[in-house]
Amino acid sequence: MLGGTFDPVHLGHLRSAVELHEALGLDRVHMIPAAKPPLRGEPRVTPEERLTLLRLGIGDTPGLVADPRELRRDGPSYSADTLAELRREYGPEARLVMALGHDAFLRLAEWHAPSRLFELAHLVVIDRPDHEAPLPDALAALVAGREVDAVAALMAAPSGGLLRLRLPSRMAISATELRRRLAEGRSVRYLLPEAVEARILDHGLYRQ
Ligand code: ATP
Repeated sequence: MLGGTFDPVHLGHLRSAVELHEALGLDRVHMIPAAKPPLRGEPRVTPEERLTLLRLGIGDTPGLVADPRELRRDGPSYSADTLAELRREYGPEARLVMALGHDAFLRLAEWHAPSRLFELAHLVVIDRPDHEAPLPDALAALVAGREVDAVAALMAAPSGGLLRLRLPSRMAISATELRRRLAEGRSVRYLLPEAVEARILDHGLYRQ
């Protein structure tokens, strides 16, 4: 699972998903837009529009799936609930992975039911070149004893491990910077897929 606001989806998300798929030997990567992200302000565009952009961005990429499940739930979009659904679908033996960037990981101790996340899945933290802060104390306590240093060690169990990954093509692209560029009428070419750019421009999304 790679959850996010995807406001909008960009090549940092998509390239990370492809590389996770390969590096971890995953069957598929569920990319799941949060309808109501609990720890941040209201996204700029609707959940349905963010899902449409995500679908356009994924296109026919093998192994990546735009998963609408959080749009079907009411209330805040808690990852623990989403992982519990995936666990029910895939069964107790399946190896489930929740991937997130280092910036999102730094706030993990503030998430809803953070230790439950480790009961349901492994966590894989993706390095981001623009986010390299050290771990807060509450987070260090939460993850103590969970870290492994290789994919094989992670995949020996269905859940409970933590792996930090430096993916080959780390990209310093953020949705915040994209929204800023779009609001100012500057170019976003080559930061997101062309089909996503075309829809954003055609529909005047993210304009001031
Ligand atoms: P914003 O700038 O609005 O906070 P974002 O670019 O960080 O957005 P999100 O939708 O919040 O995008 O991110 C979804 C997940 O993808 C998070 O776990 C985030 O850390 C990760 N992520 C986002 N951009 C990158 C990137 N360039 N490389 C690797 N991971 C990323």
